[in-house]
Amino acid sequence: MNTQNGLDMSRAPHLTIDLNTCGVSTGDLIVPGGRDYGELSLPIFSLNKGEGHRVLITGGNHGNELEGPLVSRRLIEWLPEVQTCGRIIVLPVLNPLAVEAWSRNTPLDGLNLNRSFPGRADGSVTQRIADAVSRVLLPTADVVFDLHSFGPTWELPPAATTHPIADPHLMAKTVRMAEAFKLPVTLVWQHNDTAGMFDTVAQNQGKVFVCAEFGGGTVGAGNLAIYEAGVRNALIALGLVEGQAEYPTFRQQKSGQTLETRPSDQLKSPAPGIFEPRCSVLDEVKQGDLIGILHPMGSLSTDSLDILAPTPSIVLALASGAHVNANEAVAYVARPLKI
Ligand SMILES: [Zn+2]
Repeated sequence: MNTQNGLDMSRAPHLTIDLNTCGVSTGDLIVPGGRDYGELSLPIFSLNKGEGHRVLITGGNHGNELEGPLVSRRLIEWLPEVQTCGRIIVLPVLNPLAVEAWSRNTPLDGLNLNRSFPGRADGSVTQRIADAVSRVLLPTADVVFDLHSFGPTWELPPAATTHPIADPHLMAKTVRMAEAFKLPVTLVWQHNDTAGMFDTVAQNQGKVFVCAEFGGGTVGAGNLAIYEAGVRNALIALGLVEGQAEYPTFRQQKSGQTLETRPSDQLKSPAPGIFEPRCSVLDEVKQGDLIGILHPMGSLSTDSLDILAPTPSIVLALASGAHVNANEAVAYVARPLKI
């Protein structure tokens, strides 16, 4: 046995259940221990109803985004009553160390799981989780839904998102899948921080990957209902679940729109301070409209600074609930997607 600090370093990540078993199976994804932390058992649910899409649904990728784990638990209760074919695997918490600490990154190694893919078998605990998911779970699925929230310091309408994908066929398929959630926003999100994302690893293998994002900071019954309806709509569109899709109501409106946002659509704070939004998400703004005001707090003689819309656009996300540094994003704008 190859041991180090008393831990068996040679064990490979594995499942305690056989995914080919018909019906419901519950067990764990075993992430082997390493120098920094012992073995992890991540609870997993699988419902195999034969032919059809192979879907993997994950939550708890970021530890301070709690809607995903909760919606996952609801799916586990609901799927046995409604799933008619295919196989759906649900893993509510990808990163238990981060979830227990209510922290975006893993406290132990400081790593962001969603920038650690495909991971390393001999790496730190976050890299080992990514490695186990990449090697054991990802090959079992042709469609992946990773359930995020935008994090506690942002307001963002419920959104099914993807990033631009080089393969135009996979891109079109992914946007159609995201639109099938029928959430208030379907979003193609272009940003420069995509290395090591779960999305990228899955898409490089030709899989359809949709990331659901919610913003608001605290978990609420209304948002959870919208989130659950979105996932249900997507499973209906895949033909795995019977039922009628519906547009969930968000701010008295039942409709969805497909938008895109780019790095230049991020509005940055001109100084350290507290950001005061002066508009709401999904507002349509003209060039020069007031998005919000940055209030520097270091001196009472420093003027507050207006943050204006750079172009005609739709307000996508607003920073809320945190002091910001200079050059930190305080808002995102977006525009209708043109394919
Ligand atoms: Zn996240």
